[in-house]
Amino acid sequence: MKNIIIRWIIILLCLAVACFIVQAKVNSIVRKNLNSVVKVEFPRYSKEELIKDSETRMKYLLTRTNVKFKIHKVKMKENLWLIAKKHGYSVHTVIGCNPQMKTYHVNVNDNLLLPETGGCLHPVSPRDTWATIAEKYDIEEQTLKDTNCRVYDLSKEVYIFIPGKKPAVDTLNESMQEKYALRDLFRSPLAGRLSSTFGTRRHPITGKVSKHGGIDIAVKTGTLVAAAADGVVTVASTNVGHYGTAVFIDHRNGYVTHYGHLSKILVRVGQKVKMGQIIARSGSTGRSTGPHLHFTVKKNGVGVDPLKFLW
Ligand SMILES: [Zn+2]
Repeated sequence: MKNIIIRWIIILLCLAVACFIVQAKVNSIVRKNLNSVVKVEFPRYSKEELIKDSETRMKYLLTRTNVKFKIHKVKMKENLWLIAKKHGYSVHTVIGCNPQMKTYHVNVNDNLLLPETGGCLHPVSPRDTWATIAEKYDIEEQTLKDTNCRVYDLSKEVYIFIPGKKPAVDTLNESMQEKYALRDLFRSPLAGRLSSTFGTRRHPITGKVSKHGGIDIAVKTGTLVAAAADGVVTVASTNVGHYGTAVFIDHRNGYVTHYGHLSKILVRVGQKVKMGQIIARSGSTGRSTGPHLHFTVKKNGVGVDPLKFLW
């Protein structure tokens, strides 16, 4: 009887050891497989491939970030500003996610990569760390890591996504850098619908084809008008020819700006003004068909397209 019990105990012990060994083996196999799943290598692309093709860039970003992206095919009559507005962000996001763009003019059927929320791409350079990138864009390092949640080795990446930020000018291509530099010179005197652009047009009153020396921004009478840049007021009068009531500002770098058809002037000649400082209220004085601000930029006395300078 005793012998039988001892034999059973030995058999049970052997079974337990066997079970333990099998379990350990299975665990190690599972762990090995899991590791290989976690460490899956995302397809790698060169910077050129990613710039050239928006679809490739989307695939690249979808595997690395927690941001949703889509491809937008540009339709007739769409422009950068309209596309950005439709998605609830600024043109900087469209430019910042499309390093293939060399101008801010888009063509029908262009493929643009658009994120679900505002932000830009940062081209990773060999010297970059999470900390240096966070500092560059003034963003929390953890936010960067959370957004680019599947980037395990920053040094192997070409681009990461910076949520909620404008592209850093030094990361843009040369052509875009020039455009950004010009736009740093001036800010828009007010926000509104652009009703007439610079260049040749049929005059709304005389019917004659003429050159329009600036842009018209349709806004309600009384809208606050701000100085487009630092400067000195050289004209502030209610009787400036077809401009009606107008303010001229000399920015003393070769540039002069005109603000026409105003209803009220809030500065005087000789006054120094800062970029963004309120100088007048808009109106419809002078030769005007309705309330709007006429805005002219002159460089060394020659009219230039204000849209070169404004976002
Ligand atoms: Zn005008």
